[in-house]
Amino acid sequence: MDDATPNASGERKQPNLVDTFVAQCGKCYKWRSIESQEDYEVIRSKALDKSFECKHNCEEPGDVDVEGDSTRVWLVDNQHGLPKTPHGLKRILVLRESCERVDVYYVTPQGKRLKSRKEVAGFIKDNKSFKGTRIEDFSFVTPKPMKKTMFK
Ligand SMILES: [Zn+2]
Repeated sequence: MDDATPNASGERKQPNLVDTFVAQCGKCYKWRSIESQEDYEVIRSKALDKSFECKHNCEEPGDVDVEGDSTRVWLVDNQHGLPKTPHGLKRILVLRESCERVDVYYVTPQGKRLKSRKEVAGFIKDNKSFKGTRIEDFSFVTPKPMKKTMFK
């Protein structure tokens, strides 16, 4: 059975790493795949009144059927105005095996995971190249898994 416990080599298996991003068009309510996490973060960083819209047009069929696709767990992220991840770091979401919670981590260039604002503060303090990074640019707010499309 897959789990996130360290294996013999000390590496963590990551079966539940969130790596697909979709956004819902504010006009036609279809879901569109977002090509990169960076693009997704740009969308998320915008305020609520600037909702995402289809890049081309609303006539094209949606890329995914979030409500109907039960082969995956969809996370609903209603956060707007989320800060864009500071340059050099990566924000990852990991779905717990129970599918009931998601953990947010910021991964440093050294591969270290920061899992709280306290750890972020320590990291900024210890790393001169991140001196100008603001703690406000980190968000540990997590999206909620959509219950009705959960795995059995
Ligand atoms: Zn649309």
